[in-house]
Amino acid sequence: MIDHTHNVHAKSWVEEGSGRIDFPVQNLPWGVCATHGIVVAIGDKAVVLRTALQKEILQFSNEITNALMQNSLNDFMSLGSEVWTSVRHAIFDLLTGDPVLEILCEQTELKLILPATIGDYTDFYAARNHATNVGKMFRPDGDPLMPNYLHLPVGYHGRASSVVISGTEITRPHGQLKPDDSDPIFAPCKLLDYELEFGAFIGSGNTIGQRITMDDAMEHIFGIVILNDWSARDVQKWEYQPLGPFNAKNFASTISPWIVTIDALAPFRKDGPARLDSDPPVLEYLQPVTEDVLDVRCCVSLSSFSMRNDDVGAMQLTKSSLSNLTWSFAQMLAHHTSTGCPMNSGDLIGSGTISGETKDSRGCLLELTWRGTEPIDLPDGTQRRFLQDGDELTIKAWCESEDAVRIGFGKCAGVILKANPEG
Ligand code: MN
Repeated sequence: MIDHTHNVHAKSWVEEGSGRIDFPVQNLPWGVCATHGIVVAIGDKAVVLRTALQKEILQFSNEITNALMQNSLNDFMSLGSEVWTSVRHAIFDLLTGDPVLEILCEQTELKLILPATIGDYTDFYAARNHATNVGKMFRPDGDPLMPNYLHLPVGYHGRASSVVISGTEITRPHGQLKPDDSDPIFAPCKLLDYELEFGAFIGSGNTIGQRITMDDAMEHIFGIVILNDWSARDVQKWEYQPLGPFNAKNFASTISPWIVTIDALAPFRKDGPARLDSDPPVLEYLQPVTEDVLDVRCCVSLSSFSMRNDDVGAMQLTKSSLSNLTWSFAQMLAHHTSTGCPMNSGDLIGSGTISGETKDSRGCLLELTWRGTEPIDLPDGTQRRFLQDGDELTIKAWCESEDAVRIGFGKCAGVILKANPEG
């Protein structure tokens, strides 16, 4: 809901910086620091909740205070959307009232860690342009979309243990590969790719046997982060039938460290997702309610080791938007729990690769280079079909509209390291 914390004229006493800043007082995203505990970003600084609570500059009930003193956001997220909003209001009031410098630290001092203990991670496949492109490449005969695609959000259960924070180096994985002209081999992945996605953190869950309905779904989501679902395409191609991705997806998925809350995204919600007139109707339990679509822009850039060495700026590969999804996070959650599958505080739901209709909005190298047949020229004179050792991949995201202050997500970045020699 839009309230006074989204006021375009609101200003904090904290120096927010100039130009396009990610963290104005209208944003207030949540993170966790290894040494300071729970923090909220403001400008290029952060509010240290532990300090503000210990000095009684912020005061809440015992339950909320205990949750905010932890080293992860799980307990706070489990308290529900009314508590999240009331704490957002308190922090907003603090940052727009009289200056209290002792609660701040520099963001550069923070060692940000995963913001929550992620018990379960599920990755969806919710953008039809991505599914259509991949379908055309892997199944050139017939309809690129599988018969179920427009009836339900397709997903697979991922591996929560492999979710890492932005900045973590990614070692090229080994895997079982099947060259076209020989028997399978065990070797370093040759077709390493990224996937441009967002992840939704579940705040309050549901007990086993009870579903989360479309009416309630957005109230269960605490906020979202940028997600890069690193993918070993050659491993995937050989292993994926009949049960879907397995080792191709379980070596690393990187998330941005700041959770931008659904509260902060209130001015950037739209009705939808849009469907074509020729699409089949969705069943009642997946009918969109109101403003389930989040309009978040995003871009992907790549810089090779030599580009960074020579101070050549990163090359932009993709510009896309979360509003390109065919299924909203609310629909993913309603479908995921339609059997009574329990969600817990801190569970993470990935959107699937977000590709738009145009070539420059394709969300992974598999699509951008059309399976390697259309390589990309980099400024250092080399070409990319898939990621090379030393490549750094960076995803940025932001929201902007005429009626609201621009808010950003920070970045989700990772550098590829060469495969371990011992395999
Ligand atoms: Mn994915």
